[in-house]
Amino acid sequence: MSGEKETMNCTEFQALLPELIGSGIEFSSHPHYRECAHCQALMQDLEAIAEAARKLLPVEDPPEALWTQIEKAIEVEEALARSRPGGVQTVPEDHPLKR
Ligand SMILES: [Zn+2]
Repeated sequence: MSGEKETMNCTEFQALLPELIGSGIEFSSHPHYRECAHCQALMQDLEAIAEAARKLLPVEDPPEALWTQIEKAIEVEEALARSRPGGVQTVPEDHPLKR
């Protein structure tokens, strides 16, 4: 009757988190979470990170398509840099490569 199972520590709770989230259980209703400011702050940080990630990678854009777009953008950039007169990659006239 010492309330042993209610006094889960932060490490134990955080180890349980992926399981709680994965099974769709509301972790915010967990007794440890409700009483622990540390874990509440941690989850708020994670929420903020997840939110930022969602903004960076919109869900309707599959990662593979995104990488293809990035690769194409890089190719275009390189082509532009090469074709640009007096571009960034000009080799000086007296450079060994020109001889
Ligand atoms: Zn905690």
